[in-house]
Amino acid sequence: MESYFVNDLEIIFDFAGRNDWKKFSFPIWYGIPVKIKWRGYEFDFNLRGNLKRIKGNLSVWPNPLELLKRNDSNDYIYYGSFGYEFSYDLIKNYYVPYTGIYECAVFKERPLENSHVKKALMEFDKLVIRSGELSSAVKDERPKKFLAKVAARGREALAREATALHNIIGGSLPVLPPDTIDVDYEVIPLMVVDGCGWNCDFCRFKTKGSFKVRSQQEIERQVYALRDLYREDLINYNSLVLGQNNALAAGETILIKTIQIADKVLKLHGSYFRGDPNIFFFASAKSLLKVKERFFETLNSLPYNFYINVGLESPDQQTLDKLGKPLTAYEVKESFKKAQYVNDNYARIDITSNFILGRDLSRKHLEMLKDLLCENGSRKGKGTVYLSPLIDLSDKRQVLKNFKEVKRISPLPVYIYLMQRL
Ligand code: SF4
Repeated sequence: MESYFVNDLEIIFDFAGRNDWKKFSFPIWYGIPVKIKWRGYEFDFNLRGNLKRIKGNLSVWPNPLELLKRNDSNDYIYYGSFGYEFSYDLIKNYYVPYTGIYECAVFKERPLENSHVKKALMEFDKLVIRSGELSSAVKDERPKKFLAKVAARGREALAREATALHNIIGGSLPVLPPDTIDVDYEVIPLMVVDGCGWNCDFCRFKTKGSFKVRSQQEIERQVYALRDLYREDLINYNSLVLGQNNALAAGETILIKTIQIADKVLKLHGSYFRGDPNIFFFASAKSLLKVKERFFETLNSLPYNFYINVGLESPDQQTLDKLGKPLTAYEVKESFKKAQYVNDNYARIDITSNFILGRDLSRKHLEMLKDLLCENGSRKGKGTVYLSPLIDLSDKRQVLKNFKEVKRISPLPVYIYLMQRL
């Protein structure tokens, strides 16, 4: 580490955070941030000088175990510690990431509205100004350059950069695959398809326009533009999300070529993080059923960890009809079985699935879901089942009761799906 005291602030370079994604019940810094300590706050920046996290000592921050994070699409996320064991059991994380954007029947608190968060952001605005003043006064090149970067990246500039990211990929990811919680949502987005091809009545993440596969040329344009945007901070990423909601439908050729060019240009294998890069994407039940075994053999032979998430919603036909999901219960069950087959036979591929919870759903939905998991799930730690409570049709007590009921009998890991976007 290299530390400089510049007037009333301390700036720390080469802070080596964890280079894995292990989870702990106390704050952990992943990757390589640059830290600035000022007026009781600790501000973390990425290597481009963009604000990444804020926490503080007790004089300014009520709970030193909690922190405020900013993601690459300029959303602020509050990492709250509302009972570690309770949180881990529910969402596979000791911290609850509150976005204030998507409601969840289980976590209804709104910590982003708290005064210490608003105050911390106002202090950040002042730090941006102070960085500009100190940058022109300090002699040492390293802090001088970095403070100039911070000074150029106030909240408006950060918002513009998020817009630039969305312009590059030609859209946004209205929801991230749930497994990205295992890399703390630190993923580079890359669009290979638009939309998902379906039009389920209950869905909150439908995108405008019809389903379309992007051309290889267009995908490569994105990859090079992403390289130019992330620049020196690419080292802090070893995970890619292929958007949007049904990337599996892009087909084998596009997917493989995309992953290979992205790895080469974005240097995923040269990341600070240990191990092979992670590739996350969504699939629909029908696209999963269509895929030939040869595709999984090819994926499994590549040096990546694949996490494919498929939205199945319910094995009960009445519930599927009620949700307006254009699938048969037979297709749901066959997709689920195929996912477990892939999980059992291909070490590098983990297919996880989503089902819904909600107070208006019939008892049959829950019973059939439990049967499906018991009949097909193996106990290898893969194939996580995520349960999504339907907004407005769920109450906390009921969701927790149903969640525990499914989790108790399931041979597969079961967690609540917490929605995040990028
Ligand atoms: S397939 Fe998934 S993303 Fe597409 S409309 Fe249905 S629920 Fe939404």
